[in-house]
Amino acid sequence: MSVSVIDGKAFSARLQDLVGREVAKVKADHGLHPGLAVVLVGSDPASEVYVRSKRRRSVEAGLASFAHELSEDTSEAELLELIARLNEDRSVHGILVQLPLPDHIDADKVLDAIDPDKDVDGFHVLNVGRLSTGKPSLVACTPLGCMMLLQDLLGDLKGKSAIVIGRSNIVGKPMAQLLLAQDCTVTIAHRFSRDVPKLCRQADIVVVAVGRAGLVRGDWVKPGAIVIDVGINRITDADGNSRLVGDVAYDEASQHAAAITPVPGGVGPMTIACLLANTLTAACRQSGLPDPELTLNSK
Ligand code: NAD
Repeated sequence: MSVSVIDGKAFSARLQDLVGREVAKVKADHGLHPGLAVVLVGSDPASEVYVRSKRRRSVEAGLASFAHELSEDTSEAELLELIARLNEDRSVHGILVQLPLPDHIDADKVLDAIDPDKDVDGFHVLNVGRLSTGKPSLVACTPLGCMMLLQDLLGDLKGKSAIVIGRSNIVGKPMAQLLLAQDCTVTIAHRFSRDVPKLCRQADIVVVAVGRAGLVRGDWVKPGAIVIDVGINRITDADGNSRLVGDVAYDEASQHAAAITPVPGGVGPMTIACLLANTLTAACRQSGLPDPELTLNSK
């Protein structure tokens, strides 16, 4: 069987272009300039890279970008004060607090202080609750990106059997809710699940978000399944070279799957594009406009 490689990089570039065109439209037609505030506390090198990239791509898409870089010793109260100001600021439609936060700050408290309508990361309990009860919500960017790739590939997902391996609040659980909302039959596997290979072999759609290099082997994948690999793991190979790999043994799984996301270049690039999309959606909702049409159709 020849596998189709899902090009998340190309898809995310097209999504970003579409967001950019829609941003230009709401600016011209309604004088609305969607704005995203990104808050970074401390100087974690990986977080700095992510934040720079989020700001660069916001500007590319025509969003107003507001950067708040705070020192490592910022107190929880100071951060909560900033969030309260951003909640009130009408030029800010989306607020993103880069995780992880320093240990002395309670991340849940900070995330739940964000106005749910500006919660473009989709982590606020109200958005999680809205998603799980089928109400309009802002959805966490990584699972939203996975769902866009799946819908682009398959169209209607009704009745498909899906497994989500990993049950984190930021990927696994919202991913399972999104699949359920599309009428899939969903199994969620986690570290205590029994015989995950057997569960996996029953699935038409496999989404893996665990953080263990090559966990999903080729013989876990049902012939013709779609495999979405969220994992990002840095490994050092026998020659001492370091590289990024996913949670799926890519070469093996490619022998069985109909389509698969590579790592890097699959799910990863979708996350920021979805953040831009969420900021535009949040801005439209806050201004009483209909949700923007952000469906891409590759076919
Ligand atoms: P997490 O550590 O919060 O959760 C891992 C989950 O995997 C847990 O629910 C755990 O029960 C489950 N698990 C652990 N071992 C298992 C096993 N042997 N079998 C089945 N389940 C097992 O991780 P996370 O934040 O969801 O991230 C998962 C991976 O996705 C990481 O590699 C992370 O870097 C990556 N990630 C990528 C993006 C992106 O592409 N933009 C975004 C978020 C996370």
